[in-house]
Amino acid sequence: MTDYTKPLPKSDPVTAPFWDSLRRKAVEVQCCEDCNQFLFYPRAHCPACGSRALTWKPVSGRGTIYTMTIVEKTGNRNFKQDCPYVVALVELEEGCRMMSNIIDVTPAPQDVRIGMPVEIVYDAVTDDVTLPKFRPVAG
Ligand SMILES: [Zn+2]
Repeated sequence: MTDYTKPLPKSDPVTAPFWDSLRRKAVEVQCCEDCNQFLFYPRAHCPACGSRALTWKPVSGRGTIYTMTIVEKTGNRNFKQDCPYVVALVELEEGCRMMSNIIDVTPAPQDVRIGMPVEIVYDAVTDDVTLPKFRPVAG
């Protein structure tokens, strides 16, 4: 898997638990102990109430497509072979939203839509990095 040519996320002390959870195929996101909101992306304090009492909690990995676009062309050579592909903002059941790709679907407006139920897929692109992607829930 050393031939992976796309940009990779850099883990840091704030985000490391998220990337670790993806490697374990058991996604976790932060939840605020003071206002009980789940949040994503990882942060040092809650964007809703300012609390620093954030804990990592497992989430279902299920959600719906909040908004999306189909990328037909790109100037980035690392992504050219993927076109067309779907970039979506997925709203998790727990309420926070995660930017990702929708896979295992024809990237066409009649086959992928806002509100579609999706579930996480763990894409281990390198030994160190597993990316969260989503696919339509069967049925
Ligand atoms: Zn809060």
